[in-house]
Amino acid sequence: MGTGPVVIVGAGHAALEAAAALRAEGHTRPVILVGAETAPPYARPPLSKDYLTGRIRPHELWLRPRSFFAEQHITAMLGDRAVEIDRDASRVRLASGERITYDRLILATGSRPRRLSVPGADLEGVVALRSLADAEELRCALRDAGDLLVVGGGFIGLEVASVARGLGLRVTVVESGPHLMGRSVSRTLSAHLATLHRAEGTRVLLNRELVALRGERGHVRVAELNNGARVAADVVVVGIGVLPNTALAAQADLTTGDGVIVDRWLRTSDRSVYAIGDCARFPSPHTARPVRLESVQNASDQARCVAAALTGHRRPYISVPWFWTEQCGARVQMAGITRDHDRTVVSGSPAEGRFSVFCFRGGRLVGTESVNRSADHMITRRLLANGAAGLAADDVARPGFDIRRWPAQPI
Ligand SMILES: Cc1cc2nc3c(=O)[nH]c(=O)nc-3n(C[C@H](O)[C@H](O)[C@H](O)COP(=O)(O)OP(=O)(O)OC[C@H]3O[C@@H](n4cnc5c(N)ncnc54)[C@H](O)[C@@H]3O)c2cc1C
Repeated sequence: MGTGPVVIVGAGHAALEAAAALRAEGHTRPVILVGAETAPPYARPPLSKDYLTGRIRPHELWLRPRSFFAEQHITAMLGDRAVEIDRDASRVRLASGERITYDRLILATGSRPRRLSVPGADLEGVVALRSLADAEELRCALRDAGDLLVVGGGFIGLEVASVARGLGLRVTVVESGPHLMGRSVSRTLSAHLATLHRAEGTRVLLNRELVALRGERGHVRVAELNNGARVAADVVVVGIGVLPNTALAAQADLTTGDGVIVDRWLRTSDRSVYAIGDCARFPSPHTARPVRLESVQNASDQARCVAAALTGHRRPYISVPWFWTEQCGARVQMAGITRDHDRTVVSGSPAEGRFSVFCFRGGRLVGTESVNRSADHMITRRLLANGAAGLAADDVARPGFDIRRWPAQPI
């Protein structure tokens, strides 16, 4: 590596972690962060949780105090967007017209919410939740609202539904598929979450699609569903998934396709350009196909991996994926990638709200979904990191199974 700067485009979770990890690994060259948002790098997970109740103030979201950047000699160019990469000149052009030359470039551009494409989608009160600005808008909107409609039964929508019920709103969740969080969790966990939300008083409508939003004086008031039903809505939260921000990479002719395509070392098709976090699609030893993950764990671990590579300690990205969500007072933790499982075994008691779903594919443990059972989650992460060999579905199914005592279980 030469003597020029490392330029990191994004200034979100992955970008900040990469800058911090570069310094922690002893990198002494200039590090420049470029971020489109004006806020300093902040944590997004609270935006759909405690931030909406007003219990958390914006400065409590900052990932590092403002003084960190000066202390660590990291230049943060915030409120400016990278609009073009000139790979021949190793230069990034910003919307402000500024041009920055890089020795290595890290793309950490994250993802953006998928937009609704129904009539009325641009009415006031229709919100997608990604940024601090979105969360601020939603927090204010919830304060004055009576009816909330959540479009999409994924984790962000369900977290908002849970908080809004706590604030006393009437809440309806409309999900086009037959299950909540249907693409990412087991049927058991999905059914459990539906039960929790319904018990809290949220109306959960499955196999139903939103076809239009109708407003009064420019503000949303009613949603129309594909079965003709009409649902009152002063606020609509759109939680129908995200799309990776790949435009910059595509403009620079880097290989893209539902993400910036990277190898095991998180290098793009140009060896001096890396991509990390929500925007990167990478080969993982934990899945049969390349994946793109949207989690803090993935953003942080990939950032550290690239920082290590840039300071001469190259290692492939093999971290065990994990994720958490909080809904209706339940702490749900996922270890591994469970979406392609072919068998599940439940350990613990769903009725008591403390259980884990162990997921297997081809007889091998691929992950665990735990509800209020953090020990199961932590131990599964260790098992998966060691290849998960040995633990069979029949072991978990044996009466009295407790993973904390694995492998020394009574026969
Ligand atoms: C509401 C919410 C709740 C979440 N809850 C959880 C949770 O409970 N657990 C969990 O593990 N994960 C959660 N996540 C996901 C997690 O926050 C993301 O996976 C993580 O932030 C990804 O980090 P990133 O750096 O890749 O992207 P981001 O943090 O999104 O950062 C990307 C940044 O790049 C900027 N950018 C994009 N293009 C450009 C450009 N051309 N020039 C300059 N800047 C640019 C964007 O403005 C953005 O600030 C949640 C996300 C949201 C939105």
